[in-house]
Formats: sequence, structure tokens, C-alpha cells
Amino acid sequence: MPEPLLSIDCLSSGYGDFQALFEISFELQQGQVMGLAGANGAGKSTFFKAVMGLLPRTKGAVRFQGKSISGVPADTLAKRGLVMVPEGRRLFGSLSVEENLRLAADHGRKGHWDLCKLYGLFPILEEMRHQPALSLSGGQQQMVAIGRALVANPSLILFDEISLGLAPVVINDLYAAMPEIIGSGISAILVEQDIERVRRTADILVCLREGRKVLEGSTAAVSQHDITTAYFGERHGESA
Ligand code: ATP
Repeated sequence: MPEPLLSIDCLSSGYGDFQALFEISFELQQGQVMGLAGANGAGKSTFFKAVMGLLPRTKGAVRFQGKSISGVPADTLAKRGLVMVPEGRRLFGSLSVEENLRLAADHGRKGHWDLCKLYGLFPILEEMRHQPALSLSGGQQQMVAIGRALVANPSLILFDEISLGLAPVVINDLYAAMPEIIGSGISAILVEQDIERVRRTADILVCLREGRKVLEGSTAAVSQHDITTAYFGERHGESA
């Protein structure tokens, strides 16, 4: 078995005295796409923050490409090939679209994705490249956020609810880009509320409930009943 791309071993984290994640473990192989599901407050964003070192890990280890990433700052993680598209996008509002993208490219790695390829994927960004990033629509800003991750040429992208607050037609446009992104060799962990989208995009599914991993399996093998039970507990699963 080759070295996992990402290896999470007994990871716990939280906010001060409040423990939000309890001993999460799993492995992601190179080329795999994982859907990370769970109800509001289950711990999905907390998990991403703990992996990226934005929250202290109270227990456990995170290894990326075989090496511990404890205490490694985000810009070094980008150089190593791990980036996140955070919930809320966090663009530099006063900078233009292209300045946002160039900054990310400068802090990342060289590879398949450059501005030209990105503009091929999201042509509207080329049209808007001189506009301040925050003057764009929500969907276009999300394309910039995804673009910033891509031009860093990562091995793994953590996508935190890229569809949040967007119209269905815009979400469709974003997800239409996924096959090309994944086809370029990038692995992904995808937090997404729409479980059918997760099924179409991801190879494996992990569900969290109240900070604990309650389901892990191939998306082809897990049933709707498994997912409902994982989200809400056994009693709801039975009555679903
Ligand atoms: P959502 O889909 O609503 O974003 P989530 O699965 O990402 O949910 P988290 O945001 O990770 O859930 O929250 C996990 C738990 O941690 C929740 O109980 C939440 O109230 C708590 N929490 C999140 N952020 C903070 C914070 N900054 N301070 C204290 N508690 C927090």
C-alpha cells in the first residue's frame, strides 16, 4: 500500500474548554476525493481548521505525504501542496481578481494550473480580472477562491461548503468544474450539505456527528439509511 496522502490519527480539537472534535482517524490516498458530511455543528469546519493548524490540536497527529504538519504555518503548507478553500471565501477585497490569484500563485507551487488554464476553466474571471474581488457576485467570488487554491498547484484541497449561500444554477457551474480539477490529479476533501452532490463527486464518505466520526465508507456502498442514521442517530435512521 502506498503512503497515504493524508493520515489523521486520533485528532481532537476545540475552542478553549469546549471540545468539538473527538479522536478522528482516517486516511486519504493520493487521487481520492472524500466527502465530509454531517449536520450543522457536527465539527466539519473545526476539522479543517485543526488540520490546517488554525486551531490547536489537543490530541492526535496529522501527517501529509508521510510527514507531520504540526506547527507548520499555512504558507508553508501551500508550498508542500495542502491548501484550503475556506467557508466565506476570505478574498483580499481591495485587490483585483488577478492580484488575488497572482498572490496565491506566488505562495504556491509551479505546475499544471496557471492563470491561463484557470481562465479557461472560469472564463468570467478573465473578463473580470481587473475588478476589485469584492465587487463580484457571490458565485464569481467563489470561483476566485477556488482559483486561488488551484494556481498554488496543490496535491490536496480542502473545500469548505463552496455552495453556501449560492443559487442552484451557480452551484451547478462550480461543480461542473470539479471533474477537470480532480482530473488534473488533485485530491480533495469536500464539505457539502447536498449529499447527492457528494455522492456524484466523492469516492469515500465520512460523516461526523457531535464531533465524532460515525460513518466511513465508499460512496457507492453507503446507503441513504446509513447516512440518515449517521446524521441524526439510530432512532431517526430507523424511522427514515
Ligand atoms: P456548519 O455546517 O454549521 O458550518 P460544522 O459541522 O462545520 O457546521 P463547526 O463549525 O465545526 O461545525 O462547529 C462544531 C462545534 O464547535 C459546534 O458546537 C459549534 O457551536 C462549535 N464552534 C464552532 N466555532 C466556534 C468558536 N469560534 N467558538 C466556540 N465554539 C465554536
